[in-house]
Amino acid sequence: MIVFDLVCADDHQFEAWFASGAAFDRQAKAKKVACPVCGGTSVSKALMAPAVSGTKKKSKDAAPAKAVMAEQAGEYMTALRALRRQVEQNCDYVGERFPEEARKMHYGEADRRSIYGEASADEAEALKDEGVAVNRIPWVPDHDA
Ligand SMILES: [Zn+2]
Repeated sequence: MIVFDLVCADDHQFEAWFASGAAFDRQAKAKKVACPVCGGTSVSKALMAPAVSGTKKKSKDAAPAKAVMAEQAGEYMTALRALRRQVEQNCDYVGERFPEEARKMHYGEADRRSIYGEASADEAEALKDEGVAVNRIPWVPDHDA
């Protein structure tokens, strides 16, 4: 069974149950559906519910989506903090000498080891151009400010 909101030629709105959408079409065509107010048989489905309730649902759905995004951002920050800890524990900090140290290792002038430090975007690009393997990682603060 399916319920339709119907409207007659005189704008009386009423609900009626049908076995199916096709059953309504058949009965309405055969003028077997009559308005309970005026008895008119020119009835059609009222245009209302879908558009309105659809809009409401959308705005309701927006809130959970935002919450999920915030959660993912939190996970991302956690992952970056873990990465930072890993780098700090396993690599030597060389500060601003990073480009210089990276080059020395690249050209075999120094033993290869894991280092981290600061390099400007230009320096990082220059290193890459020379074929030096460098990764830029977002350096997040250890704790939330
Ligand atoms: Zn009517």
